[in-house]
Amino acid sequence: MPELPEVELVARALDGLVGSRRVVAAKLLRAGLAPGTPPAAFARRLRGRRIERVTRRGKHVLFEFERELVLIAHLRMTGRFLLLPLEAELPKHTHALFYLDDERRLVFSDQRHFGMMKLVCAAELSHTKELRLLAPEPFSGDFTPDYLRATFARTRRTLKETLLDQTKVTGLGNIYAAEALFLARINPFRPAAEVSTRRLPRLHRAILEVFDESITHGSTLNVDPENIDGSYYDGGFNGRWRVYGREGEPCLACRVPIRRITHAGRSTYFCPRCQRT
Ligand SMILES: [Zn+2]
Repeated sequence: MPELPEVELVARALDGLVGSRRVVAAKLLRAGLAPGTPPAAFARRLRGRRIERVTRRGKHVLFEFERELVLIAHLRMTGRFLLLPLEAELPKHTHALFYLDDERRLVFSDQRHFGMMKLVCAAELSHTKELRLLAPEPFSGDFTPDYLRATFARTRRTLKETLLDQTKVTGLGNIYAAEALFLARINPFRPAAEVSTRRLPRLHRAILEVFDESITHGSTLNVDPENIDGSYYDGGFNGRWRVYGREGEPCLACRVPIRRITHAGRSTYFCPRCQRT
C-alpha cells in the first residue's frame, strides 16, 4: 500500500504528464470505483474539461479540473495509473479511462478493487467525507511536536496504532511508521499518551525525515509513463529500509537482530535494544 511519499511522487509525476491536458472523454468502467457518481454523470462532468494540476492530500491524489471540479482518487492496495498511447492494449483490471487531447489515455487499473474515486466541487473538497477528518499535512505548519502532544494525550492506543490512524497523523503506513519509530528510538508498543515531552520533538523530526528522504530519493528516479506507480512502490527505495522487513538482520545502530511482532494485525519491526522504551 502506498504511503505519503509514494502518493506524493505519483501526484507529481501525474502533474508533469497530464497537468494542463484536456479530457476529451472519460469512462467509468467499474461503477463501484466511484459509488457516488454514476458512470453517465462521470462521463458528462469530465468531458471536455481541462486538468489544471494534480496534487495530493493525505494518501489521496487530487486531479484539480478547470471550473471548480476535483477528482479524488485513492489507490489503496493495488490501484495504479498508466498513461498509454491510444493503440496500446488496456491492462486487465481497467476501471476508469480518460481520453486526453494528446492522443493518449490515462488508465486507472486496480487488481484488488479497493481503489476509490469521487468527483466533488472544489468548494466542498475539505468537507468531503474522505478528507474532512484527515490530520494536518506533515509538511504543514499545523503539524508540530505540540500537535502530537495534544493528539497523543487523547488516545489510549499504542504509539504504532496511533501513527497509522490517518485522523491523528496523515500519511504514515506500516513501513514509514516503523522507520520513524526506529529513527526516533521509541518503542512502538508504548501507549501514545505516555511518550515523554522530551521525545516528541524527536519523533516529529523522524517522521518528516523518513518522508523527506524517500520523496527526495524518488524525485531522482526516471518515471515510466506506462508504469507510473511501479517506478516508486516500495520505492526505488526497496532494500533501503532501516528496520522494515529486516527481521533477524542486525540493527544498523547496535547490531542486535531486528525483531518482528504482529501487533493489531500488522507486522511491526523494531530493534529490541535501541527501542527498548
Ligand atoms: Zn539497535
